[in-house]
Parts: sequence; C-alpha cells; structure tokens
Amino acid sequence: MINHLQDTVTLHNGVQMPGLGLGVFKVEEGSDLVHAVRSAIANGYRSIDTASIYGNERGVGEGILQTIEENKLSREKLFVTSKVWNADLGYEAVLAAYNASLAKLGLDYLDLYLIHWPVKGKYKEAWRALETLYKAGRVKAIGVSNFQIHHLEDLMADAEIKPMVNQVEFHPRLTQKDLLHYTREQGIQLEAWSPLMQGELLHDETLQGLAAKYGKSVAQIILRWDIQHGVVTIPKSTKEQRIIENAALFDFELSPADMELIDGLNQNRRVGPDPDNFDF
Ligand code: NDP
Repeated sequence: MINHLQDTVTLHNGVQMPGLGLGVFKVEEGSDLVHAVRSAIANGYRSIDTASIYGNERGVGEGILQTIEENKLSREKLFVTSKVWNADLGYEAVLAAYNASLAKLGLDYLDLYLIHWPVKGKYKEAWRALETLYKAGRVKAIGVSNFQIHHLEDLMADAEIKPMVNQVEFHPRLTQKDLLHYTREQGIQLEAWSPLMQGELLHDETLQGLAAKYGKSVAQIILRWDIQHGVVTIPKSTKEQRIIENAALFDFELSPADMELIDGLNQNRRVGPDPDNFDF
C-alpha cells in the first residue's frame, strides 16, 4: 500500500515504481514545463510521465537534469517514463525511437518505456524491440498503454517477457473493472491516465459531496481512490499549488462504502480515444 508520496509498487520484475507521478500531456516546451517538472520534484514527486508524441521530452529532461545538477537527488531516485509513438512501431524503428527519446531527454536510460497504442498488426514486432532493449539492460521496465484484455492476451501469446505496466484511461466514469481484475491476476501494474478526466470530474456532485465530507478537494478524493485501488496515477498540472494538492493524499482514507460509491459512478465513458476503434 502506498502511504507516502515516495512509496512505490513493485513491478513483476522487482523494479520499484512510485504510486504517483506527474503527467505532462499537452504541456508545450518552455519555461512552464521546466518549472512544473522542477516544482514536482522539489515537492517530493519522483515520477514523470511523458511520450515522444507530446513533443516535450527536451523540457522534461531539462527540468530533471536541473534538479539533479542542483544536487538535490540522484538520477536513480527518479522514475522516468516515455512512450513509443504509432509511426515508429517497426523493430528497428522502435530502437531508433528509444535512442531519440533518450537524446531529447538527455538521459542514458528510462525507467519505463511503453507502446503508446495497440496498433493492429504492429504491436507484436514493437514488443520484440522493447524486449531487446530490456534484455540489453537499457531500460528498467517495459510495458504497454491503452491495451484491452484481448490485446494483452494476444501480445503475451508470443511474448518472452510479460508487460510490467499497462497505462490506460481510468477514472470514476471509466472504472475498468474487468481490466483491473485481469491485470491484478496477471501481475501487470495498472496505471491511470486522465485520472481527473481532464478536469471534467471536478464538477461531479457525488465527488463534491465526498470532498466536503473528508475536507479534501475533488481531485484529492479521486486520486486517493486510485491509490486505494492499487492503481498508479499521474495527474497533470503545471500549477505549483495543484501539483502540491494532487500529492497530498496520505493523511486520510476513503471508507470501503465510499470506495464503492465512487466505483458506482462508472458509465464506461471515455474522454480519450477507444483502444478498439482509433485511426491514428
Ligand atoms: P488529468 O485527468 O490529469 O487532468 C488534467 C487537467 O486537470 C488539467 O487541465 C489541469 O489543469 C487540471 N487539474 C489538475 N489538477 C487539478 C486540481 N487539483 N484542481 C483543479 N484542476 C486540476 O488529464 P491528462 O489527460 O493530462 O492525464 C494525466 C496524464 O496521463 C497526462 O498528462 C499524460 O502524462 C498521461 N496520458 C496518457 C495517455 C496515453 O495514451 N497513455 C493519454 C492521456 C494522458 P492545470 O494544468 O491548469 O492545473
């Protein structure tokens, strides 16, 4: 159980992954991005989630390296994730994309590298390349994103190494009950993207009621619900106050009844694309 911002879950290969991290989707290169990464780390975050398609790996790397250079901590204390984009899913293309991401970030390894989307006919070859990187010791853990159960089963039928993580859209309107159960059974760590439904959930009346009851913000209620489900979560904010708020989750606990109440908000509603029906 995660009881502190720097607590970790143990992936099936033994790697420790922080239970909470900072997401940086839609944050453009520039000082706001560098500042967000720096303030997250300064406020105790140890995990940052980016992707090559976000076009912001340079700024993420800059924020990380500035913090390291100021000697506040060592690279090994941080957990950096990036993702290979759909256009790069060939075997050689993945290897090249990995090197390109590292060069932009200014790092010599990633903690986690993910296949961003399950592009039909392509993800198995991409997975072979991730396995190569992993076996060569160039990345600490490998995983997938936006994989449904059938994608995972299909991938694992031919895989040598089981994905350590599956990062998917997950929030109170999309509770992913079957996938959560399946990944738990398989020892694959589930990770929530758009945990706040990109802000849409902050106006939900049930969640507002719980926020009042616990004396917390709606964002904190949702993120605490992730943690209590054992789901790693990566809320995005560029505002320091919110970055701090989103990590202040460890001085209260949702009751089992309130966990169920939140589970009951499920509508199988997505804010992002459907992994079974996307065209990019
Ligand atoms: P989130 O659900 O994290 O919501 C982010 C939005 O909520 C922003 O508009 C932010 O605004 C606002 N916000 C954050 N904290 C608070 C708060 N405490 N109070 C009020 N508003 C708040 O959305 P994301 O889509 O960014 O998802 C999180 C991360 O997941 C991404 O950044 C990315 O790293 C990853 N992701 C992965 C995907 C994948 O396919 N694998 C797809 C989508 C996301 P502000 O910044 O102004 O504070």
